[in-house]
Amino acid sequence: MRDLASLRAPQVSEAVSDEAILIQPVGAIEQHGPHLPFNTDYVIAEESARSLIALHGEQLDLWLLPTIAYSKSDEHSWSEGTIWMSSTTMLAMLDDLGRCLARLPAARLVFLNAHGGNSSLLNVACRDLRRRHGLSTFLLHPFVPPDQGGELAAGEGGLGIHGGHLETSLMLHLRPDLVDMNAATANLPEQLITNRFVRFGGVAGFGWLSDDFGPDGHIGDPTSATAEHGRVAFDNAIAMLAAALAEVRRFEVRRR
Ligand SMILES: [Zn+2]
Repeated sequence: MRDLASLRAPQVSEAVSDEAILIQPVGAIEQHGPHLPFNTDYVIAEESARSLIALHGEQLDLWLLPTIAYSKSDEHSWSEGTIWMSSTTMLAMLDDLGRCLARLPAARLVFLNAHGGNSSLLNVACRDLRRRHGLSTFLLHPFVPPDQGGELAAGEGGLGIHGGHLETSLMLHLRPDLVDMNAATANLPEQLITNRFVRFGGVAGFGWLSDDFGPDGHIGDPTSATAEHGRVAFDNAIAMLAAALAEVRRFEVRRR
């Protein structure tokens, strides 16, 4: 397994070439409604990275970094059990990470992010790490959140952003033992469907907390989720990521 943390010190300079791509999965530990576990985003980030490396690691020269568990989940700060970092802490942590990784021969770092609440900060960090530490940085999502231009599940009105059909299907595929479909209910706030501008992915951005839209904390409709849909979505995501990483590998950047 191409797992950086499992190497012994003298192996690093031999195993990790300057053409290698470092894969940094980014998860979260945050409430996902009554039917999904806190570690939903962690599981999706880590399983996506492991699958990518198992299928394409040799060909694309990928190296796995340990999954970041705690990240910017402050929209769920009202929920006990959610463990979150502030934006300033997370940016500082990512800067420290970049400083450490820049000592490796590899020049390319890819954040593989499974929590939509991290995306803005990770884009900021990508530029910071490029400028401060010379790394070539990239941000990929196994599943682009619907509020950031990703595909919308039919029937959810563009609201399946948290614990909805897709995430629930993925968890039924990856970790069915952690899912309680008896507790799955739809939560589809009407005004976010009918609004033209103030909506997820709309022209007017808005600051929101996940309990703004009801007490259960999820947003979307998980009731029709299936493991089979999760398997297909997961396999498609891995194929898309592999194609994207092939382009990352060819992407010319000036060494700094
Ligand atoms: Zn999630």
